[in-house]
Amino acid sequence: MLNIDLHCHSNVSDGVLPPAEVVARAAANGVHALALTDHDDVAGIAAARAAADAAGLTLIPGVEISVSWGGQTVHIVGLRIDPLNTELAAGLADIRRGRIGRARRMGDDLARAGIAGAYEGAFNYAANKEMVGRTHFARWLVAQGHAPDMRSTFRRYLTRGNPGYVEHEWTSLENAVGWIRASGGMAVIAHPGRYAFNARQLHLLLDAFRALGGEGIEVITGSHHPSEYGKFADLARAFSLKASRGADFHAPGEGIDIGRLPALPHYCQPVWQGWPELAAHLSPSIA
Ligand code: AMP
Ligand code: MN
Ligand code: MN
Ligand code: MN
Repeated sequence: MLNIDLHCHSNVSDGVLPPAEVVARAAANGVHALALTDHDDVAGIAAARAAADAAGLTLIPGVEISVSWGGQTVHIVGLRIDPLNTELAAGLADIRRGRIGRARRMGDDLARAGIAGAYEGAFNYAANKEMVGRTHFARWLVAQGHAPDMRSTFRRYLTRGNPGYVEHEWTSLENAVGWIRASGGMAVIAHPGRYAFNARQLHLLLDAFRALGGEGIEVITGSHHPSEYGKFADLARAFSLKASRGADFHAPGEGIDIGRLPALPHYCQPVWQGWPELAAHLSPSIA
């Protein structure tokens, strides 16, 4: 069986490893094909591709786009995108500019709660100064002793109703799916189990996503408890969406490692079905 992991982060967004080290870790874990899906940036793909070529691993160019839909933040993964596509690049640059202002407001909100210096502190954890996010704030808050680990940091801070959380308008679902498709990619709903939607709202999201040309949904992800896999596999089938698998790796020792997830349920149609770049990893048929 091919080990395919289609969701992970480098230090171009909120992961800790440089793109080439993410690829090396995937190769060491026996991954055949890896999608680098940094938040709102494609700047790591060239280095990841070079490392993948050297390691004999297939690099799938990807991105994870931040979207506002139905009063929540929803993440849309783009797979097999063209990182040089100007429409996609311009859209992502716009989201990153919005992140800077949001970070300023987050810092101000934390200061009001008695925690000074968070804005500057978070930027120290961002290798890519254009891509700052809540994870960078969380790493700084942990280092400053405001919480013992990332999990409790997000429970106490940076989430709705807590210090450091500010409302932010990301791009639209229509834009995100449109940019991904314009660049030749496939749009996939990331970690559907993470959103605070009821069943009706989730179905509306899947309908809207399909109507815009979205094609896939993550079923096996580090963000889902194993008890949720069946539910999302059923949902994928019910909505005629292809199923994806990805650890959502950010850092060694945090969450599930790259390629270390169960396989998709057998009745799922994988997003990678028919991708010619995977043929090299399949045993040659008798010619
Ligand atoms: P942002 O896009 O700046 O809002 O940051 C979102 C990122 O924060 C996600 O991609 C995760 O990496 C991280 N995150 C969100 N919630 C949690 C949590 N409960 N525990 C750890 N990391 C989280
Ligand atoms: Mn992240
Ligand atoms: Mn996400
Ligand atoms: Mn992610």
